[in-house]
Amino acid sequence: MSTAFTEPACQPPPPAVQEDSNPAGCVLVAEDDPLYRRALQRFLTRKGYTVQLVSNGLQALADATSPDAPRLLILDWMMPGLPGPEVCRRLRSIPRERYQYILLLTAKHTTADIVEGLEAGADDYLTKPFNIQEFFARVRVGQRMIRLQDRLLAAQEALRFQATHDPLTGIWNRGALFELLRAEAERVQRKATSLSLFLIDLDNFKRMNDEFGHLAGDAILHEVAQRLSAAVRLYDIVGRYGGEEFIVAAAELESERPHQFAERLRLAISSCPIRTSDTSVSVSVSIGVATSDGFVECSIEKLIQIADAALYEAKRKGRNRVEMAHPAA
Ligand SMILES: [Mg+2]
Repeated sequence: MSTAFTEPACQPPPPAVQEDSNPAGCVLVAEDDPLYRRALQRFLTRKGYTVQLVSNGLQALADATSPDAPRLLILDWMMPGLPGPEVCRRLRSIPRERYQYILLLTAKHTTADIVEGLEAGADDYLTKPFNIQEFFARVRVGQRMIRLQDRLLAAQEALRFQATHDPLTGIWNRGALFELLRAEAERVQRKATSLSLFLIDLDNFKRMNDEFGHLAGDAILHEVAQRLSAAVRLYDIVGRYGGEEFIVAAAELESERPHQFAERLRLAISSCPIRTSDTSVSVSVSIGVATSDGFVECSIEKLIQIADAALYEAKRKGRNRVEMAHPAA
């Protein structure tokens, strides 16, 4: 092969194309020609990239599908093992959450070849020999695409969080809560075990709102949610049912009986006053508990209805207490 790269002799660096302010990141280079391989490594390293080098298609595929694989791949077309387009095809057939940008290097020039490479799943191609400035311009395009995809994923994740969480307290909102409860009810039924549902209502919340204002009321709701979340096991469900009502669901309580568990939740709220921005408020909750044991049907709506009746009893008997529901005869 003659000149592999046309490096500019005395040209200024490309104007106004933003260099990455972030670390350049990791690039996988798959190239069987030692001259190209070394040159690409040198150029990329000089620009701050971490370069992972391989010299055949099979190794490229293995490295590109490893858990911490680089997001930017530069693949030669003609390689032992697997040709670049086949590596692309196989990579694209594996679903991955994080997109990998593929730049194909090829000595092939015909439109049919280029179409074949792109159809195989490459994002871009560059024909050899190439100008090194053009090469880096295309690498930067790849990086922009990767960052764009990362931002999209982050935005999607934020939307997912907003759609499933209560904005005031940060715990599951009513919609997500019911979905989780239904799934949990099905799971415990399958496993023939039990699910305990705790319906928790803040005592005298309206009065606190009137006395201390709605901002203090919001702070109290937020703190109650935090204390409930901190008091349960990692895999228990804590959600806002509505207004000042919360639901906790706990499956397979073994070391604690449901009543003890509920008492622990009650004490987590009442044992220490809640500080708002300008006052300190003693808060208590009443809790109605329903456990799927003994109920023929373990529908969530039924459990909530039974827990609600128990909660009503707790309120009637003076608040700041736990009442257990008893299976219907
Ligand atoms: Mg080759």
